[in-house]
Amino acid sequence: MLVENYTDINIFRPECNHSFDSVNVIASFNADVSPVLPYLNATLGGYAFDAESSTLTLKSSGKLVTIRPRSVAINGLKDEDEVQRVLAWLQREINETYEQRDNLKPAYTSRPLLNVIAILKYLPKTNCRECGEPTCLAFAAKVRDGERGPEDCPPLTAEQRATFAAFLQASGWTALDADLW
Ligand code: SF4
Repeated sequence: MLVENYTDINIFRPECNHSFDSVNVIASFNADVSPVLPYLNATLGGYAFDAESSTLTLKSSGKLVTIRPRSVAINGLKDEDEVQRVLAWLQREINETYEQRDNLKPAYTSRPLLNVIAILKYLPKTNCRECGEPTCLAFAAKVRDGERGPEDCPPLTAEQRATFAAFLQASGWTALDADLW
């Protein structure tokens, strides 16, 4: 087992507005997790990976999880229960991935970032809001970040959706897991 526990858990509200409902957390690991980060990057579909500083960033349900060798920072959590649940999930993922590392292929790069304007060309550009975003441009930015995909734009025809998906696939794009924990 690589991580046996968290040695320090600091839960706080965002500094810009202490009345925010969400909470952030910074927690310290009792061990250096840098050996497992390239494997976590591969298995969890990391958003960004900096091999030099051993920093892995994940995105899940709009939350940002930044894992450094000795600590993790997570923003936008609902409450302390969710903090404990996500920290337990991360500890489990780290330890399971570490155990399995000989069977996994590590990844040392960040996911490719596509150009938002290039993505926009595949959308209807009517700003109809059926996807729940205020504009097609906002939707395209979420596609770039892996948070939305071709299936989330209802007005696209099946053929348009397939062409869009083929473009994304050829660019190395992958959807982020919307709910990691
Ligand atoms: S549903 Fe499609 S066309 Fe409508 S705003 Fe969203 S991305 Fe644009």
